Amino acid sequence: MNARMKAVVVGSGIGGLLTASFLARNDYEVTVIEKSPFIGGRFANLNYRGFGLSTGAFHMVPHGENGPLAHLLSLLGASVRIVNSKPKGMILYGGRTFHYREGWKYLSLKEKAKAVKLLADIRRNKLPEGEEAEMSGTEWIRERIGDNEFVELFIRSFLGWADSVLDVPAIELAKEIKAALRWGGPGLVKGGCGALTGELARIVWMSGGRVLTKKKAVEIDAEAKKVIMSNNEELRYDVLISNVGIRETVELIGRRYFDRDYLKRIDSLKPSEGIKYNIALRGSQRVGNTVVFTLDMERINGYNEPSSISPELTKEGYTLVMLHHALQSRNIRKERRIGIEDIHRIFPNFDEEGEILLIQTYLDGNPVNRVASGQAVEDFPVEDIYIVGDAYKGEGGIEVEGIALGVMKTLERLGLGRFSDWYL
Ligand code: AMP
Repeated sequence: MNARMKAVVVGSGIGGLLTASFLARNDYEVTVIEKSPFIGGRFANLNYRGFGLSTGAFHMVPHGENGPLAHLLSLLGASVRIVNSKPKGMILYGGRTFHYREGWKYLSLKEKAKAVKLLADIRRNKLPEGEEAEMSGTEWIRERIGDNEFVELFIRSFLGWADSVLDVPAIELAKEIKAALRWGGPGLVKGGCGALTGELARIVWMSGGRVLTKKKAVEIDAEAKKVIMSNNEELRYDVLISNVGIRETVELIGRRYFDRDYLKRIDSLKPSEGIKYNIALRGSQRVGNTVVFTLDMERINGYNEPSSISPELTKEGYTLVMLHHALQSRNIRKERRIGIEDIHRIFPNFDEEGEILLIQTYLDGNPVNRVASGQAVEDFPVEDIYIVGDAYKGEGGIEVEGIALGVMKTLERLGLGRFSDWYL
């Protein structure tokens, strides 16, 4: 009788738990180790003063019920409800909040024709190539559509909300637009992020795997194929899935194991950083299940209202709103001050009807994305070790959709499925 293959998954973020679920379903003996007392990483609920905040994400999935993450969840038969946003997006511009489609009126006839042509090109997979692919996405849009303030602010706000950077290479932007055309807009997760990662952990358990908290990996012995934990326990693996970042995985193995060129490449990868503001507004919901792109703010790029479909995330008599912006400087106090000023512009009666619950800053060891969107990441160069999570995202995949595309690539490399139709 063949012994079952052993898989160790380091880190219980959404990438780790997704991969663990598929491995467990495919008869691997799976152990997920998580250093903190809770599972889910930056896709978990954070209960705070009676509100269901989150450790990272906005309780939202960028392409809702039809995106790559929803596809993987449906393959697993996961009992998670994602509710598509209606409308897919709204825009706050010039003091007014309106349906995204109304934005077309800020383009001249000529600009509109060019924009329609650009979207048709993207739909037909005519994407920027060569030098054009590497140029700034914002510049590329300007070249293709014209110098239009509204369009520029919209792209900036979209990228700040979705990727927590204010520009990406043209090819990444083109693929993110392609993703939106193909899979549609976002959706909120019923019950919040924790409902999703909790369900994945349940699937791992139900399939005979284990998810262990308060277990920290301190070393990976890539020769003996074992993970050593802080309590000196060791776990043997045939396959190791790392959800803790590329550089962190390299550190666990030991930098001496890698050649200089590779170390130089991974050391040059940049994270994305940002600030999230959780606020409570008295009264009923304001915009409902949608995203508002806030175009003419100093900092805030967008906001959503997770309690609109999950009232359990808010205290009676309040609605919960999450706002976000990319960091524009390292002066965090100044960034927050301007962010809060923006909140008062967005909700003019904020002093009377609202309060700030918690401001979360994502940088350094806890960034928005360990590898900001648009940077090429090669497969990990050590046999039987795979990176998942926000350091290994598929091109054009925003946030957890990028993570899902990366997990698809990993599953394919492990011979556990075919997903090429999903790649952008
Ligand atoms: P995320 O931040 O969502 O990508 O998830 C990564 C998860 O990995 C988090 O829950 C971290 O607490 C966890 N983690 C990070 N480093 C280690 C480590 N050395 N051993 C075990 N878990 C870790």
